[in-house]
Amino acid sequence: MSGFVFSEKPITIESGEGPYLYDDAGNEYLDFGANYAVAPLGHSHPAVTEAVQQQAETLTYVQASYPTEVRTELYDRLADASPEGALPNVWLCNSGTEANEAAMKFARAATGNSKIIATKRAFHGRTMGALAMTWKKKYKAPYEPLAGDIEFVTYGDDEELAEVVDEETAAVFLEPVQGEGGIHPATIEYLERAREITDETGSALVFDEIQTGVGRTGTLWACEQAGVVPDMLTTAKGIANGMPLGATLCADWIAENHGDHGSTFSGNPVVCAAANATIETLLAEDIPTHAGDVGAYLMESMETAAADHDLPVREVRGNGLMIGIEVKRGANRVLRDLALNHGVLALPAGRTVVRLLPPLIIEESHADEVVDALTEALS
Ligand SMILES: *Cc1c(COP(=O)(O)O)cnc(C)c1O
Repeated sequence: MSGFVFSEKPITIESGEGPYLYDDAGNEYLDFGANYAVAPLGHSHPAVTEAVQQQAETLTYVQASYPTEVRTELYDRLADASPEGALPNVWLCNSGTEANEAAMKFARAATGNSKIIATKRAFHGRTMGALAMTWKKKYKAPYEPLAGDIEFVTYGDDEELAEVVDEETAAVFLEPVQGEGGIHPATIEYLERAREITDETGSALVFDEIQTGVGRTGTLWACEQAGVVPDMLTTAKGIANGMPLGATLCADWIAENHGDHGSTFSGNPVVCAAANATIETLLAEDIPTHAGDVGAYLMESMETAAADHDLPVREVRGNGLMIGIEVKRGANRVLRDLALNHGVLALPAGRTVVRLLPPLIIEESHADEVVDALTEALS
């Protein structure tokens, strides 16, 4: 028997340690996708494992209306770590799409409006609301009609944004670097203009940092590099180093008028323990800065290799350890070659982009290994 939703890969993974995964035949793979950015500290990090074990022995579940220390600690950690400490109100859920779904609801409640602006190429998740804000037709068509009142604008075009956002706009959703859409970083000016435009109309600016956050781009949140604070920030993927957690961090004006939301598993103690250990380790060891440095090194090495070996590479782009290599042929063939012949697991982002989202703890030697593998796979 097998699940029917995912297409299965021809490798059975048995265990993981640091940036490596191991299959049932004992083969080693360098995980340069961190399985969709969920393992910033690497697989089975001892601090997270210990936190999970201890919490599982103490209390595995209590609903979120009963305060419990481990959850309160996570609320405080996320509030303190939010951009400029300005998003101290935390909603916890189980995934990225739920974090965005909550942000859509909160924005509607707080503004009294329903119109939401999203961007072409955006990816915000697969539930009916978040999916409505996602661009790719293939993901949406079989399930329509989705949630209504979503308008799409061209990512990076601040003039178009200024034209469509008005007093009836509940929210603008942006990824600071579009991930699934092909690794497209926003300019600082675009994020600044988005802030000004939404301030003028009283609309909520929401940054979806589900892929960019948790240190991946060199700072804990990518928006910190632009100095732009949104009204809500959503996070998930790596926030609990692989345990299922999403969070919506909200400004006071949103929290004060958020409607009525809830979820049985909100703030599950075991998951909170994993997140506390993840965030504590990440900040104590200044891993975001390390990610920024190794990421810059990797991008430069890849550009040099592409030029030296005349590789079919159109562009290397990204920020920190969120890197896209746009190739002149199908990315899937390259990815298959990387996995089966070089023991390197990476991801696509559309048909022509090889996407690298490694654990943030990789060293330059790992980057060298992957650049060499890519050079061979592309030659
Ligand atoms: C992965 C992702 C999501 C959806 O998260 P899930 O946990 O898969 O629901 C939303 N937004 C962005 C930017 C993502 O990368």
